[in-house]
Amino acid sequence: MVQHAMANSDTLPPSADVAALAATCDQDCGEAATLSYRWEWGATGTCCAHHAALLQQTAVSLKRAVVIHPIALAAPAPLLRDERIQLTARALVLEAELTEAQTQGLSVYRKNGDLQVQLSTAVVRDREAKAQLQDMRAKLAELEKWNEQITNENGRLLVELERLKSLDAFVHERAEREALHDRGLEPPTTVDR
Ligand SMILES: [Zn+2]
Repeated sequence: MVQHAMANSDTLPPSADVAALAATCDQDCGEAATLSYRWEWGATGTCCAHHAALLQQTAVSLKRAVVIHPIALAAPAPLLRDERIQLTARALVLEAELTEAQTQGLSVYRKNGDLQVQLSTAVVRDREAKAQLQDMRAKLAELEKWNEQITNENGRLLVELERLKSLDAFVHERAEREALHDRGLEPPTTVDR
């Protein structure tokens, strides 16, 4: 019992300090990591409080979830040099991917804004065109009505013209007969027209 307790006190370092020293912020800042995070797609890491806040902002702008919590005080095994190098490289890759995703997100956001402007322009133009079309339809209906009136009037005038022509022919014929008769050339005949 005693040996065991003594062995522990010798081999276990003050865990909290070592834990803080063992992990550094993987956001390439070199600060001691006090928090660990986990993205919803599974990527995990450790970071300082400042970078944790940045990660949360990033998560909001990406519309993705990141869970951040204090690093457990139980000291993890100190990282080997190779592991640290690998983790740092992985962090750099992730950071690059994150930056790219943010850039793409911003680009999509701007394109979306442009599209919305184009869309509302198109909507206004569409409304304008529809209003003009309605206007033109009304004018066309008016013209058709007018055309119909003119056609009717024209038909009526044609009938009238025919009537006047035959009346003229009749009058002319009678005048000639009377002229012949006056000169005693031909007897008048009764015209029943
Ligand atoms: Zn940091």
